[in-house]
Amino acid sequence: MLNDTMTAGQELAWQETALCRQAGPEFFFPAPGSSTREAKQLCGACEQRTACLEYALAHDERFGVWGGLSEKERFALQRTRQG
Ligand code: SF4
Repeated sequence: MLNDTMTAGQELAWQETALCRQAGPEFFFPAPGSSTREAKQLCGACEQRTACLEYALAHDERFGVWGGLSEKERFALQRTRQG
């Protein structure tokens, strides 16, 4: 979520060094029922994993792999955090 001191550019700065920049969107948004294993492996080696995951959680991203977690895994994490 943007706040008064953070611009959209700053908020997305982590994407500049994201390991997946060269990967196609189908890699992270696989068809329903397809494996997310390869995308998660790439995320596992990405130095922006935490920033990516927090961005997805803050923006309620519903689809695809973000920060190494699928939509179901992010939903479960959100529920854990909310207690
Ligand atoms: S954690 Fe995964 S989806 Fe996020 S920027 Fe890195 S490679 Fe891309």
